[in-house]
Amino acid sequence: MELLDPDISYRALQTRDARLDGRLFVGVISTGIYCRPICPARTPKREHCRFFSGSAAAQAAGFRACLRCRPEIAPELPGWRGTSNTVSRALALIADGFLDHEDGTVETLAMRVGMGARQLRRLFDQHLGVAPVAVAQSRRLLFAQQLLHETKLSMSDVALAGGFGSVRRFNHAFRSLYHRAPGEVRRAATAASVPLAATAPVMLQIPYRPPYDWDSMLAYLRARAIEGLEVVEENIYRRSVLHEGMTGTITIEHRPDKRSLKATIDFPSVRALQAMVARIRHQFDVAADIEAIAAHLSKDVTLAPLIAARPGLRAPGCWDGFELAVRAVLGQQVTVAAARRLGGTLVGLWGEPLPHAVDRRLMRTFPTARCLATADLSRLGMPAARRATISALARTAISYPQLFMPGASVEERLTQLRAIPGIGTWTAHYIALRAFREPDAFPATDLGLIRSARRLIGEQTSASHLLERTEAWRPWRAYAAQHLWTADR
Ligand SMILES: [Zn+2]
Repeated sequence: MELLDPDISYRALQTRDARLDGRLFVGVISTGIYCRPICPARTPKREHCRFFSGSAAAQAAGFRACLRCRPEIAPELPGWRGTSNTVSRALALIADGFLDHEDGTVETLAMRVGMGARQLRRLFDQHLGVAPVAVAQSRRLLFAQQLLHETKLSMSDVALAGGFGSVRRFNHAFRSLYHRAPGEVRRAATAASVPLAATAPVMLQIPYRPPYDWDSMLAYLRARAIEGLEVVEENIYRRSVLHEGMTGTITIEHRPDKRSLKATIDFPSVRALQAMVARIRHQFDVAADIEAIAAHLSKDVTLAPLIAARPGLRAPGCWDGFELAVRAVLGQQVTVAAARRLGGTLVGLWGEPLPHAVDRRLMRTFPTARCLATADLSRLGMPAARRATISALARTAISYPQLFMPGASVEERLTQLRAIPGIGTWTAHYIALRAFREPDAFPATDLGLIRSARRLIGEQTSASHLLERTEAWRPWRAYAAQHLWTADR
């Protein structure tokens, strides 16, 4: 297990160092409670503290979450530092709810990241000090605790949304960890007069580690917003969603004072809430360890001024991998505005209608792979070869849905994507960057990237020159690409 330096950790605690928030958790032996370093409570004695690098490890050691600093909403960071790549990928899959489904076992999880279950358990123990199932269980409990705090969902809805199957099971898991009933937590939250949302829609905070360049994120989304599917205005992003056959909407707002995004989820099933939050976290790249990335990329003279100008720039992900892949193909060889118009036609013709949307501008969802696989795409008005690529993408998504989700080795995925006719290196890397959230993806032949590089590095810069230069930017080339693109606007 990775050990945190206790002296540095304790100093961070004494100074309530926000830079370690999400990276350090402190279990207090005398109270059995664990906290974030920013907790307003009095600093415990040094000899009563135990230090953890993740909330799951603190919970596995028997500590329960503090009701004041609320570790369940600490910004969640990918375990880049000192963690193996495999553990990071497995953690990302667990965060997506991989182990919450009936067929989601540690064996299948291990297979997805390319190893045996025993080996994966050993790696988890070595790097995190917790078993994979304990991480999943602790995530579910933390999510349920957030719902108790921030919503008025009934106890049975909280249990369902947390993936516990029944109130009885939820109560049991909650009590064994927190030594109190879920109802007591809710009463404590209400007594502290936390403003609670009405039953539907559900409003939740999605915290990040500052800085967060919300304006750039919104500008990216605005330039690509598809009519009928998405609305971007002032401080909000709103879109229609289709999940397990049901339709709804999500609205995202920036709350810089709370260092979080506020998500309003209007959806008929509470069971989908965790998956929705996971998708929002991808799309808005809230889990990036932005300081570490900036420190590394700033070593490059070309990137340093770009990072200084936009220290919180994120690499936008996407709501859905298949949707992103289709959008990437619509964008081949045409401008962003033209791709957007094609997207509008596609949604208008084959999207699921959205009958009860509060925002009348959201009329349809993005078409499913099943629908696009058999649709007559000649109505789209684009070259036959690219229509064939969309049909092929749709058929692949039906036979091999995992291809569009994060998981196994990126090289393997890139090869699989390139096997689809019409998907070249550029499109494959673009899909890896946005859909798999591969932080090292870099579509070097992109015209915008080359244009930006020529302006910043030199007129002679070619794709291969650029690619050579990017070697020093690993493993965060996706963020370098985002900076080059943003500088090109
Ligand atoms: Zn606390």
